[in-house]
Amino acid sequence: MSALIGQDIKYCIELLNTSELVAIPTETVYGLAGNGLDKKAVARIFETKNRPFFDPLILHTDSLSKIQGFVKDIPEAAKILAEKFWPGPLTLVLEKKDCIPDIVTSGLPTVGVRIPAHGTTLELLSELEYPLAAPSANPFKYISPTTAQHVYDQLGGKLSYILDGGACKIGVESTILGFENGRPTVYRLGGLEIEKIEELIGKVHLLTENEHNPSAPGMLKLHYAPTKKLVIDSLSNLDKYVEMRVGLITFTEFIHSVKACKVLSIRKDLKEAANSLFAAMRDLDKEDLDMIIAERFPDEGLGRAINDRLYRASIK
Ligand code: AMP
Ligand code: MG
Repeated sequence: MSALIGQDIKYCIELLNTSELVAIPTETVYGLAGNGLDKKAVARIFETKNRPFFDPLILHTDSLSKIQGFVKDIPEAAKILAEKFWPGPLTLVLEKKDCIPDIVTSGLPTVGVRIPAHGTTLELLSELEYPLAAPSANPFKYISPTTAQHVYDQLGGKLSYILDGGACKIGVESTILGFENGRPTVYRLGGLEIEKIEELIGKVHLLTENEHNPSAPGMLKLHYAPTKKLVIDSLSNLDKYVEMRVGLITFTEFIHSVKACKVLSIRKDLKEAANSLFAAMRDLDKEDLDMIIAERFPDEGLGRAINDRLYRASIK
């Protein structure tokens, strides 16, 4: 099989209606989508990505009223966030109804749901009665794709269609927020800044390293990694690596002394940096290098999501 890349929404619907998978564009990253109410399609998603069954999937749809059909109760704070940030890079973890197969949620009683902000995918979703289960369209543990070509490079032999919606505008995965005993809790830092969430609903709890139980569904630490070793270090320590062929990821500064350097935002814009991060990792991964070094980004706004992805890429 070799995937076609195009913009044929009708063809996507035909494929999805027969338990096939389609890669879809979103504003965060490309997703590998299948009918979220169809166990066979969902099992195919896990197989195609080589993803363990204990890593639950997010459901995508185009309206709050459809979401009400598959979650039990929406807490007030979730309603406020949904109203403000959907369509957008926020996933809400809510109590699921029985119509959602357990395979989607790895047996959890909750399900992650989101309305993505991408015109083409919203058009597709509006034509479907079921939600699309869609994790990032990359092999398990590798960097998420932010263009149709990235999807093709890695999964092109394993699915028949990639819906092309251009390069993803945000470029990192969604922020995931749930409610643990009623307390708003962030499970994953992502494309929506925590500061913006807190402006609306007050302080949220960030799941710390200690509370992170990697064997619990949804709590996997390792993720998003290039094949090459990635180390987080400060630019003032580069002397340590003179003997090595280093690929460097920096925020604003171009460094000549290394073999390859990717500057994520010369104008110090964390949004732009987040948007360039995964492509930079992919590019460096293709070069003839011993290792990748990344500097730590400012711990605010999307800088927190960038640091989180770099950290996860660095633990092997
Ligand atoms: P991906 O779609 O590849 O970005 O991965 C989806 C991620 O969402 C999973 O790895 C989990 O961390 C998270 N997730 C999905 N459903 C739940 C849930 N019910 N509870 C907690 N986390 C979830
Ligand atoms: Mg993923």
